[in-house]
Amino acid sequence: MGINPLVTVVEDEEALGILLRYNLEAEGYRVDVVERGDEAEMRLDEKKPDLVILDWMLPGVSGIELCRRFRAKPDMQRVPIIMLTARGEESERIRGLATGADDYVVKPFSTPELMARVRALLRRANPSTVATLLKVGDIELDRESHRVHRQSREVKLGPTEFRLLEFMMRAPGRVFSRTQLLDGVWGGDVYVDDRTVDVHIGRLRKALNRGRVKDPIRTVRGAGYSLEAA
Ligand code: CA
Repeated sequence: MGINPLVTVVEDEEALGILLRYNLEAEGYRVDVVERGDEAEMRLDEKKPDLVILDWMLPGVSGIELCRRFRAKPDMQRVPIIMLTARGEESERIRGLATGADDYVVKPFSTPELMARVRALLRRANPSTVATLLKVGDIELDRESHRVHRQSREVKLGPTEFRLLEFMMRAPGRVFSRTQLLDGVWGGDVYVDDRTVDVHIGRLRKALNRGRVKDPIRTVRGAGYSLEAA
């Protein structure tokens, strides 16, 4: 509960790996990028993802072979897989779907389009983690339009405050330590210190609390923060 879906990207083109990581993290997912097919198998055994984006041509083991192997593993059978491939391999599309990929995207692709497919597949596999509309007390957050309302007023948030609120709205009442917020919102790979969390919590509070409303963010001394339903 309260943990963002993990998307594992298996892609050997470094620039594309970076682009996908950036966009997936902006959607609130945790992201693991692996560059080699043979490493992907080991990585997925260690950390089971909620969705896999798999490139077709990979060093080590090909994407299509990996897809076949994943589908043979009992714990990976239901994990959605999106295959990426280069244009002009349309005949291979059939092979891709036949090996058990859930979706198929041709490069170069539109990033918003790919993000929409990721969301749709995650929603199908696990409806609660990717509900479009989150509601806690009088706060409503729409993941699709990236809009937040409190009562009927629109709350304007920066991208970090939006992700922070979304993360906390998944588990109302749960106390998150600063480290958990850093991992969940900023991602484990980025270096930011605990003070950064306090600064963004401060901004989020300021944006949410206009007029005579109750502060929904509770500071738990020595522990962290939680979001409480009014
Ligand atoms: Ca490739």
